Amino acid sequence: MGRNKSSFIITLLVMFILFLSLISIVFSLGPGAFFRFELILLIILLLISINLTKGVLDGKDKWKALIKFYMVNWVNIIVLYFSTLGFKEILLPLAVTGIGFIIALIKVDTQDFRDEEPAAEEEKYVASEKGKIYHLPECNKAKRIKNQVEYDSKEEAEESGKKACDCVE
Ligand SMILES: [Zn+2]
Repeated sequence: MGRNKSSFIITLLVMFILFLSLISIVFSLGPGAFFRFELILLIILLLISINLTKGVLDGKDKWKALIKFYMVNWVNIIVLYFSTLGFKEILLPLAVTGIGFIIALIKVDTQDFRDEEPAAEEEKYVASEKGKIYHLPECNKAKRIKNQVEYDSKEEAEESGKKACDCVE
């Protein structure tokens, strides 16, 4: 969880600096169709960024979406560069999105690694036929039960009159 919090803070910082610099760039464009287009794009990107940043805070896997988001921003920054600006103006948004991009890449990598681990077997509960307590199968007390009965859920076990052992959270 602590690691998630630090990635959230970095993502938040990236978004903050990115949008501050984008706002100043877009408002430095002269009036006209290109300014209106960039302004609308800015608002759309801002809304997406809020959604993605909030997703990171909630611990949702938003990293792949963030990678795409940063790439769209790069394209936009490069368009802005060729249309009006000097390199100095685009350096900051380019750099912070780069940082965000690298973090998202690292996060996706660790995420994929986690996905490769075998999925946990479906939860089962066991009890002695005559006993009053149900356990997780890996519980030491459960291992000593000779005539085991199985349940697919806590509810099922409790409906048959059993109470949870400490091993069941
Ligand atoms: Zn137990």
